[in-house]
Amino acid sequence: MTRLSDDVLELEMDAVIKDKPEEGFTLVRKKISTVLQPNEVLIKVMTASFCGTDYHIYEYNNWARNRLNLPLTVGHEFSGEIIKIGSNVSNVKVGDIVSAETHITCGECEFCLRGEGHICQNTQVIGVDRDGCFAEYIKIPEKNCFINNADHCQVELSVQEPLGNAVHTITHFPIEGRDVVVLGCGPIGIMAVDVAKAYKARKVIAIEVNDFRLNLAKEIGADYVINPRKEDVYEKVMEYTNGMGADVIGDFSGHKGAIEQAFKYLKPGGGFAILGIPDEPLTIDVTNDIVFKGVRIYGVTGRRIYDTWFQVRDLLDHNLLHLDKIITHTMPLSDVNKAAELMKKKECGKIVLFPGGKCE
Ligand SMILES: [Zn+2]
Ligand SMILES: [Zn+2]
Repeated sequence: MTRLSDDVLELEMDAVIKDKPEEGFTLVRKKISTVLQPNEVLIKVMTASFCGTDYHIYEYNNWARNRLNLPLTVGHEFSGEIIKIGSNVSNVKVGDIVSAETHITCGECEFCLRGEGHICQNTQVIGVDRDGCFAEYIKIPEKNCFINNADHCQVELSVQEPLGNAVHTITHFPIEGRDVVVLGCGPIGIMAVDVAKAYKARKVIAIEVNDFRLNLAKEIGADYVINPRKEDVYEKVMEYTNGMGADVIGDFSGHKGAIEQAFKYLKPGGGFAILGIPDEPLTIDVTNDIVFKGVRIYGVTGRRIYDTWFQVRDLLDHNLLHLDKIITHTMPLSDVNKAAELMKKKECGKIVLFPGGKCE
């Protein structure tokens, strides 16, 4: 256990920052104050994983341009050890290995009060609205700490936040014994394939244009894979589901055309959970594809706090997933731009970074 002595008021650390309004990240040495708010904790980051959001910040797309205040320390998915706690902290202690629920909710609005904090409209996101975890240390509120099973592999613990997105999306509608389509197999979609198999879906059909990712989906257990550039998606899904269509679809692609088409092969009475974020409005035949089919649609934002996290823990504790295959790369924090380039080429599953040197 590392306990930080009280007379240390500042730490110097490596950190990955976004400081220029252009593509790229900058690795810097910067200072972090160890003085904490009463409800805050200071964490030594052991593992941090690279997210699609981090890639959007790297490339500096329109969303990033409108949302961010530079300079910003990026990153939000991690596992680390608490080394100091604020004066009012009571639910976690020094030495706890924790990950962060990355949405810092207000705790006071209607949604927070009724247990729907994931749709709190006053949410601040770690690594987006405030400094993140691609650094040796991070400060977060106590209420955002999820205490990990310290015996579990640190590399896998760092991906619980995106894994929670996969779980929230693909388990919202009952999937045991049902035919499930995972639309888009980026890292979270791949995780959703794994989760759907763990939850005993009858058939999992993965749809993805990138062959590297499609092969990964197959390797971790997708029953069928479809590459829309080579095959007719509608025909194939109908064939694999005996002409009935999919009971449940999870969208991880955010692709306008793919989502529009999915409404056509969604089975009457089926459920469509959408995590992907299309950047333009969709054209949907509401009358025929929603109303008369009696389907349900669910928008997914973040994780249910903390229901989803306990589902994730259960999957990890029982070794029901193949995260060793889904995490395709590990590298030192200083290689963060290399990680971004791998994301650009889409030749990776999940990438995990080590801010404090190699970690087992
Ligand atoms: Zn993320
Ligand atoms: Zn709120």
